[in-house]
Amino acid sequence: MHNVIIVGSGCAGNTAAIYTARANLKPLVVAGHEPGGQLSLTTLVENFPGFPEGIDGPLLVENIRKQAEHFGAEYLHGTVIEADLSKRPFRLKVDHEWLETRTLIIASGASARWLNLPNEQKLIGHGVSSCATCDGFFYRGKKIMVVGGGDSAMEEANFLTRFASEVTLTHRRHQFRASKIMLDRARANPKIKFLPGTVVDDVYDTAKNEVTGVKLREVDSGKTWDQEVHGFFVAIGHIPNTKPFKGQIELDPDGYIVTRGGARTNIEGVFHAGDVQDRVYRQAITAAGAGCMAAIEAERFLEAEGH
Ligand SMILES: Cc1cc2nc3c(=O)[nH]c(=O)nc-3n(C[C@H](O)[C@H](O)[C@H](O)COP(=O)(O)OP(=O)(O)OC[C@H]3O[C@@H](n4cnc5c(N)ncnc54)[C@H](O)[C@@H]3O)c2cc1C
Repeated sequence: MHNVIIVGSGCAGNTAAIYTARANLKPLVVAGHEPGGQLSLTTLVENFPGFPEGIDGPLLVENIRKQAEHFGAEYLHGTVIEADLSKRPFRLKVDHEWLETRTLIIASGASARWLNLPNEQKLIGHGVSSCATCDGFFYRGKKIMVVGGGDSAMEEANFLTRFASEVTLTHRRHQFRASKIMLDRARANPKIKFLPGTVVDDVYDTAKNEVTGVKLREVDSGKTWDQEVHGFFVAIGHIPNTKPFKGQIELDPDGYIVTRGGARTNIEGVFHAGDVQDRVYRQAITAAGAGCMAAIEAERFLEAEGH
């Protein structure tokens, strides 16, 4: 029987592990299919406080994990595939084994949707990004492409005009899903060029390990051409990693955990941390802060129950 199991080893899960380990709760962290979480996909992180020169994402998240291990947190390679949260102790199936826990912190993140272009994954962190707040600063005076037709694509495109010489917004349809106000704002921005009815077939250049351009295709005519860009931002949404908890815990229509304030969920003893609940900020520092909140809530919950 565990005091606390933490699902996910990104910034949120690892920070929750530091706090619960230092509270002597001997947390078990289930690392998941992506140990280190989304920061393990990126290169330089310049906005995490405490690193004036910036720090590589994988190193940052590895350091948080080491800090947690230093205080006694244990890590399990594996993925939660099923959960029974109907009664306590909560039960989690990690690969083939069922584990029991008094409290649960779900920090399983939300994965960006990608276009699945042949070179896209190879260039993530080298010009391909899913986060304008994170990476926009690297493209001062450069040409940027944003892909998407919803509010987040408009928001990212607008934000990126602070840095870019021009932003091309590509969308496969002629109609945009974005709200009128967001669309109008983007349309009024002289730095944003709209390219509707167009899809991206691939992004270049893996040989140089940086983005130099994209191959575009007009949907109606099938005409293809190359366009020079240096930053390629995919803004077609995120998928919260809540599949094993579906039907067990309250989720919103998109699958994000619904908060009951602080780090609380609709089930007492089950807490959320990081991007799995946060569709707004989605930053390493906010995820780490949420991990801290969840850990303190779990600790107080256990204390109130006499553990
Ligand atoms: C390319 C890129 C660059 C970024 N750059 C920055 C930046 O410069 N600055 C910044 O502040 N933020 C940046 N971000 C955002 C930041 O990475 C996220 O906000 C942060 O990682 C969220 O942390 P998290 O712990 O909530 O989730 P994640 O980092 O997504 O971690 C989720 C964890 O849950 C695990 N998991 C998922 N499902 C299961 C399961 N069923 N069982 C067990 N484990 C599971 C995964 O393996 C993973 O370890 C960037 C993101 C990307 C994609």
